[in-house]
Amino acid sequence: MGTFETVNPGNQPVWINTNNCKACDICVSVCPAGVLGMVYSDLSTLGAMITIDHPEACIGCNDCELNCPDFAIFVADKQEFKAAGHSFAKLTDEAKTRQEAIVANNYMSLNQGA
Ligand code: SF4
Ligand code: SF4
Repeated sequence: MGTFETVNPGNQPVWINTNNCKACDICVSVCPAGVLGMVYSDLSTLGAMITIDHPEACIGCNDCELNCPDFAIFVADKQEFKAAGHSFAKLTDEAKTRQEAIVANNYMSLNQGA
C-alpha cells in the first residue's frame, strides 16, 4: 500500500494517494465496474482505506477521480495510456454484477468481507 504520486506510478489505469483518502466511499459508489472497494486499515484515522481490487476492469470513465472530494484517486489519461500500449476495459456484465455486490457489501472490498 502507499503510492503518493499524482502522476501515474507505472502504467496503472487508476491509482491512489493514500495520504489524502478520507475513506468516504464516494469513489466506490460511483464506479460502474466493481474496480474499487474499502478495506479496514489501522493506518487510517477513519479505520478504512480505499483499495483497487480490479484494475483490469477499469473502463477509464474518470467518475472516481471527478467525484473524490480529496484528490486522492487518479485515472490515467486515455491518450497516454494508449500510447504506453495499454487500453481500458469494456464494461462487462461480470463487472456490473461485481459492482452491485460491492454496493450491497456496504462498499467494502469483496476480498475482505464486511
Ligand atoms: S472518494 Fe477519494 S477520499 Fe473518498 S474513499 Fe475514494 S479515494 Fe478516498
Ligand atoms: S475510472 Fe471509472 S471504472 Fe475506473 S476505477 Fe474510476 S470509476 Fe471505476
